[in-house]
Amino acid sequence: MKALLANEREASIAAQFDTALNNMPNGLYMINPDGHITVVNRAFSEMMKLNRDLAHGDVTVRDIVSDAIAVNTLSVASAKAIVAEVEASRAGEIVTIDASGSGERALSWTFQPMEGGGTVVLVEDITERRNAEAKISHMARVDELTGLPNRVSFRDEIEKLLAAPFGEASPSALLFIDLDQFKQVNDTLGHPSGDKLLCAVTARLRRLLRPQDFVARFGGDEFVVFQRGIHSTEDAASLARRIVDRLSERYEIDHHLVEIGASIGIALTSPNITADVLLKNADMALYRAKADGRGTFCFFREEMAHTVEARRVLELDLRHALAHEEFELYYQPLVNLKSGRISTCEALLRWNHPTRGSVSPADIIPVVEDMGLVVDLGRWILRKACMECMKWPEAVSVAVNFSPQQFHQRDVMTEVRYALEVSGLPANRLEIEITESSLLRNTQWTLDVLTQLREAGVRISLDDFGTGYSSLSYLHNFPLQKVKIDRSFLEDINTQRPLTLLRGVARLSADLGMTVVVEGIETNEQLELISAEGTITEAQGYLFSRPVPATRVRELLKASHASATKTVVPLRQTQR
Ligand code: C2E
Ligand code: MG
Ligand code: MG
Repeated sequence: MKALLANEREASIAAQFDTALNNMPNGLYMINPDGHITVVNRAFSEMMKLNRDLAHGDVTVRDIVSDAIAVNTLSVASAKAIVAEVEASRAGEIVTIDASGSGERALSWTFQPMEGGGTVVLVEDITERRNAEAKISHMARVDELTGLPNRVSFRDEIEKLLAAPFGEASPSALLFIDLDQFKQVNDTLGHPSGDKLLCAVTARLRRLLRPQDFVARFGGDEFVVFQRGIHSTEDAASLARRIVDRLSERYEIDHHLVEIGASIGIALTSPNITADVLLKNADMALYRAKADGRGTFCFFREEMAHTVEARRVLELDLRHALAHEEFELYYQPLVNLKSGRISTCEALLRWNHPTRGSVSPADIIPVVEDMGLVVDLGRWILRKACMECMKWPEAVSVAVNFSPQQFHQRDVMTEVRYALEVSGLPANRLEIEITESSLLRNTQWTLDVLTQLREAGVRISLDDFGTGYSSLSYLHNFPLQKVKIDRSFLEDINTQRPLTLLRGVARLSADLGMTVVVEGIETNEQLELISAEGTITEAQGYLFSRPVPATRVRELLKASHASATKTVVPLRQTQR
């Protein structure tokens, strides 16, 4: 009776074991110490498409694999590897092999030796996992939009090509291409159109290249071409010329006719050059090509590296200067021609570097803009200038120059409000000088900011008028309170033409209710000429004072505002 019960229990456990075995997703079989299969589950039979009855105990691994080869679920090579692993697993190793059957299936075989001898083999179908991994690694190497290799795979490929003998025999050229005006297309037509444009550029590039050449997208609007085995630099120049010409032809994108340009930097391979150096050289040449006016190409030359190095050191010094407040503000008076008094002082940036000496703000601002630090520097200047103005007579305002980037920052209003708040300066004593380039882009936004500034009580002054587009439409399209006529207007002032121009602009501005300032008055003759012109309200220039340190400008203001008499007397200040 007891024995019967035990048998029943065993039978029930065996049945449960059988169910578990045959319902598991992985294939499994067991081999006894003499090499015969003792257990096989359904998943394994299905994976290998095995028809024969494997349960009777006299089937070996070799039988199974030869059946699988016959029905094409296992390759001969994989079968050999499996048999070898089973034999080796007697030494107690666990090994996984990806043995592909027919088609694209990937299986992972794990061989687990058992204690008393024999092996358990677990087979897992890893096709999906492997495909997903392959897809991820493909995605990491290909630019999704254009289908071109990306920066990573390009670099690897170039490394390989540079090491190959083909590249050593004759040089190759690397062309670094940057699209001009792409950003404008993206901004005006939107990103989907920008994407289409990039695909159109890719198609044109592809058609210009030979099969052995190689093109990649480096992100944004940058493409790189590796032109293999050239005979002379002219080969590279000619390809560059064709690329610039072809990419500059019109595109039709979403029913819009679009025109862009391309600039190219070219670097040639040399023995032992690395991909990174080659790319860096081409990038430097590209920088030059863009500086040369875009729509052109330029070959890398050794001295470019020195220019770049000098620029790098300048950037480091500027960063240091900003962090340690090494900058200073000088102030230059604007004199009211009727009262003879100083009405405004313009804050001008000064940087006295221990070894560079005095660096011009005209050299600092563009670099700081490129470095993305102009907003930080501008904030410092604005606050400092507002605080300084608080020390001046109440009738005197401060003028602060805003670079286009600084003016177009999103929270420009917050910056201005904050500077006024921390300094306590009334808004009507702050004047912001912008140039025409600030008015060029994003017109509605620009108009909104100008309106908000005016509503806050801050005055806007259009600086250097006459040097840029000199579009008279700016004068009435935007709420401006002051126009500063550039000193270039004073050149040959004695001749009739410039004077007529100066008069015309001054009258128009005055008619539109703006204060008119002439910059750069250096001589009494110039002063007399502009004073005779009733529409010019203020003047600025070395004749009155050069830009001077804060302590000095306070003295000038004291003198200017203490005297009760009306005089347009030059302040006779020569200090710089
Ligand atoms: P700007 O705003 O037009 O400033 C006038 C420039 O002309 C100043 O040069 C000034 O020293 C110079 N100047 C004034 N009177 C005369 C004169 O009678 N004759 C001659 N030959 N020059 C005169 P500076 O200080 O070298 O500044 C150059 C430019 O750098 C400025 O032109 C302005 O655009 C920019 N800048 C200066 N400071 C700042 C600043 O704080 N922020 C920004 N964003 N730009 C600044
Ligand atoms: Mg200015
Ligand atoms: Mg100016």
